[in-house]
Amino acid sequence: MGSRKPSAKAKQMASFKAELGSMDDLFGREEQRQDALLARREEARRERACDRKKRYATRADAEEAIRLCAEHGTRGLRCYKCSYCGGWHLTSHPREA
Ligand SMILES: [Zn+2]
Repeated sequence: MGSRKPSAKAKQMASFKAELGSMDDLFGREEQRQDALLARREEARRERACDRKKRYATRADAEEAIRLCAEHGTRGLRCYKCSYCGGWHLTSHPREA
């Protein structure tokens, strides 16, 4: 229990503060990296949810396509209004709708 001398504690505090300083830097860089990551993720999401999909102008068009798919054996499709392009897309993933 003899390790908590005042001088050692002050030294610890100084190095702790120095560490905090460099941590700020780290967090700043991490934030930028996160932003870039989020932008890429958002792009990928848009591609998956919109760009790669067939677009229907109206809900009726989308529902007609769902009906045709069902006739050809593809069931469980749903349509959703796309927040990216304002059109309608089909999905088999309920959480996308
Ligand atoms: Zn879209």
